Amino acid sequence: MFDKILIANRGEIALRVLRAAKELGIATVAVHSTADADAMHVRLADESVCIGPPAARDSYLNIPALVSACEITGADAIHPGYGFLSENARFADIVADHNITFIGPKPEHIRLMGDKIEAKRTAKRLGIPVVPGSEGGVTDGSEAKRIAAEIGYPVLVKAAAGGGGRGMKVARSEDELSVALQTASTEAKAAFGDDAVYLEKYLEKPRHIEIQVLGDGKGNAIHLGERDCSLQRRHQKVWEESPSPALNAAQRARIGGIVAKAMQEMQYLGVGTIEFLYENGEFYFIEMNTRIQVEHPVTEMITGIDLINEQIKVAAGSPLSLRQEDVRIEGHAIECRINAEHPATFRPSPGTVTYFHPPGGLGVRVDSAVYQGYTIPPYYDSLVGKLIVHARSRDECMLRLRRAIDEFVIGGIETTLPLFSTLVRNPDIQNGQYDIHWLEKFLAAGGMENVG
Ligand code: ADP
Repeated sequence: MFDKILIANRGEIALRVLRAAKELGIATVAVHSTADADAMHVRLADESVCIGPPAARDSYLNIPALVSACEITGADAIHPGYGFLSENARFADIVADHNITFIGPKPEHIRLMGDKIEAKRTAKRLGIPVVPGSEGGVTDGSEAKRIAAEIGYPVLVKAAAGGGGRGMKVARSEDELSVALQTASTEAKAAFGDDAVYLEKYLEKPRHIEIQVLGDGKGNAIHLGERDCSLQRRHQKVWEESPSPALNAAQRARIGGIVAKAMQEMQYLGVGTIEFLYENGEFYFIEMNTRIQVEHPVTEMITGIDLINEQIKVAAGSPLSLRQEDVRIEGHAIECRINAEHPATFRPSPGTVTYFHPPGGLGVRVDSAVYQGYTIPPYYDSLVGKLIVHARSRDECMLRLRRAIDEFVIGGIETTLPLFSTLVRNPDIQNGQYDIHWLEKFLAAGGMENVG
């Protein structure tokens, strides 16, 4: 096992990793930018190292500074959290070259899944259902037209190097297709430095359902059920829950089994998420995230399994301590991502938190690095904290969530708490009847106009 883990991240995920490390008896090193000297992860870690100025590229993305911080402190492993360098294969390689363990998948798997065309090809080969589309990148217009005619309109033009929903364009006809190809590849070039695009059937009203996996890199791998993350704004997840209101136990076991088998074949190491769109009873692979995800607590609540603890153990070379039959899904969990943003306009609202009163009680978990008097810096993402609620059934979970939201008080800044207060009382959400467009439509129709 490791002696000391350096956590190459900030905010709530840095705290989350720190908690898991402490419970395993492993010492922790926090790193921080000059803007984060007062951050909670710095206060709670055994040691801390300042790695640069506020801009992430100079600090949390600064590979030489991170490697030096490991060498100075004698850390023998790095946990990258999510975002920043968590899916950077080059970073994983460099870390390994310095005899430090990267707590994450094998670099070749990060690389493979980072290229969306390769990822889709691999998924298909491993028996995972994929969205019908071009087998690889498309470059010329006539080839695109032929493929689009084959799969049928509407089609989606997507960037191979995509991320965060950028470089995606819908085309509903042949005329729209040439424009979509142009704009998607220009956008992709600007955002990712790679203009490669591919085509997919555009699904009109899918849900976003993802499967959590865990593997030991030696061919043992299991799944831990799904999360339904269909409530999104600008392709950013806002509310996640498990089990999905759209799936039954047989459907879960079927897709979970397919995914677990694929991970066994790949000899996947660590935690990962296979993301699907789900429509009319069918799953369509869209991508794999080769890291821990923001919404992982939802799975932890319904399985009782500490995902970061398991991630650290397999990174240290331990075989998987769980078998598929050890994974029992109990009750229902929902997570709300609370951001420092205006609840209706989503304008960022950094600043000093003058009052902070998180909710408590049975089945209520708050993952947050915020404390009263803390000043949220403007340089990073606006996540203030995650409210996760667990109960025996979805109905009980909704009632508990409503109660927990009502208890939560954050003063001094604007937050998206009122959005969740509205959502938890909405009949569609109460009935679990929503797809990936629901939230955007609700907001466009003025659903939050009189709030905030
Ligand atoms: P990114 O890597 O940019 O996040 P994804 O492939 O994960 O790209 O897609 C982002 C989002 O775009 C999905 O969560 C979904 O909302 C939408 N999307 C992706 N592919 C399709 C598709 N074939 N049909 C409809 N919507 C899609």
